[in-house]
Amino acid sequence: GNGRDLVSYFSPGHDSQRRTTAQLLMHSALREALQRDEFFLEYQPICDTQSTRMVALEALIRWRRADGSIVPPDQFIPMAEQSRLIILIGRWVIARACRDLSALRAAGMPALQVHINMAAPEFLDSELPAQLVAITAAAGVDPRQICLELTESVIMQRIDKALPVMRELARLGFDISLDDFGTGYSSLSRLKALPIASLKIDRLFLRGVPHDGNDCAIVRSIIDLGCNMNLRVIAEGVEQDAHLGFLRQFGCTLVQGYLPGRPMRLADLMAAHGDPARL
Ligand code: C2E
Ligand code: CA
Ligand code: CA
Repeated sequence: GNGRDLVSYFSPGHDSQRRTTAQLLMHSALREALQRDEFFLEYQPICDTQSTRMVALEALIRWRRADGSIVPPDQFIPMAEQSRLIILIGRWVIARACRDLSALRAAGMPALQVHINMAAPEFLDSELPAQLVAITAAAGVDPRQICLELTESVIMQRIDKALPVMRELARLGFDISLDDFGTGYSSLSRLKALPIASLKIDRLFLRGVPHDGNDCAIVRSIIDLGCNMNLRVIAEGVEQDAHLGFLRQFGCTLVQGYLPGRPMRLADLMAAHGDPARL
C-alpha cells in the first residue's frame, strides 16, 4: 500500500502497532494539508562568495497547521517519503517555485535560479522529466532556472535508475546539485560520472571552521575537488564572519547560511530587493 519499489518490515509488538497508527494519522493529515493549501515555501539566498550578491534561492517547504503552528520539513517530509504522497507534495513545490520565479521576474528582480530539494520517490518517478517540462513551460520558466538538489544517498542507492534520469534532465536543461556532500555514500569514482553542476558542502563541516584542523582540511579538499571538476561549490551553514573569510580565502564559489541570509517569505525577499544590507 506504500507504493511501488518499497518493502516494509513489520515486527509484532505494541510499539510497531502504535507507530503504524501514528503513521496513518500523519498520512491523512498531510493529505488534508495539501487539499487545504497549508504548505508554503520560504526561500534562502545562495550568494556569490566574493561579492555576497544573491545569485540563487533554495526553496524550503513548511507546513502551517490549522492551529497556526509551523511544522519544519524534518518533521513531515520523512513521513511523506514513505508513500507516494511525497510525489504530490514535491510536484506542488515545483509548481509553486515556478510561479514565484515568474512573480520575481514580474517585480523586476534579476533572473535567479531556484534550487528544489528532491526525495528519492519523486526523483525516481518515471513521470518527473515530462512533468518538470510541463510545469516550467506553463509558468514561462526556463529549465536552466531550476536546479534540483539530490543527496548522495538518493543517487547512490539506486544509481542504475538515477543516472539515466539525471542525464535526461541535464539534456532538458535542468541543473542538478549534489546536496549534503561528504555525509553520505560519496564514491569519488562515481562522482566523476555524474552530470551535475554543483556540490553543496554539508553544514556539519562548517561548524568546525576555522578552529578544527580536520574540518578545515575537509572543506578545503571539497572546494578543490569541486573546482577541479569544474563544478560550482556551495558551502551550507555559513553563520559567522570567520566562515565567510575562510571560504573566500580558499575559493569556494557560493555561500548559503544565516550570515548571508535566512530563509524568508517571497514578499520579504521582494522587499529586501535593492537593499543588500537586509540579505
Ligand atoms: P537541506 O536541504 O540541507 O536544507 C538546508 C537546511 O539548513 C534548511 O532547514 C535551512 O533552513 C537550514 N539552514 C540554512 N542556513 C543555516 C545556517 O546557517 N545554520 C543552520 N544551523 N541551519 C541553516 P529546513 O528548512 O528546516 O529544511 C530541512 C531539510 O528538509 C532540508 O535540508 C531538506 O532536506 C528538507 N526539505 C526542505 N524543503 C523540502 C522540499 O521541498 N522537498 C523535500 N523533499 N525536502 C525538503
Ligand atoms: Ca538542500
Ligand atoms: Ca543540504
